[in-house]
Amino acid sequence: MKTISSFMNQDILSIESEIISVNQKLKRKIEELQSKCAHDNAIELDYSPGSILFKATGPKRKCLNCYYEESGWDCGYQKLKNSNIVKKFETKDFHSYYFIKPHEQI
Ligand SMILES: [Zn+2]
Repeated sequence: MKTISSFMNQDILSIESEIISVNQKLKRKIEELQSKCAHDNAIELDYSPGSILFKATGPKRKCLNCYYEESGWDCGYQKLKNSNIVKKFETKDFHSYYFIKPHEQI
């Protein structure tokens, strides 16, 4: 009995398999780092008041060492409350917060 993959390009399947493996390795590394990180340096995204198209969202912080993220709403920041804020992003620049550019000047 044939499988769907027997009709697919084997080179692409092989590369996709490598990507899955690397993503699993990255996830394990992030989990390991988050379990012992001091969260010294973080970035922050401003509160968004929302609009007709988007609901309001609270401010957020993300650790630059381990990518741990917290919302500043509700109980406020817990693990990231004393982090050095390396850069603050305005709501309109939310994509720069979510997709960090390591070589961006601060
Ligand atoms: Zn951290």
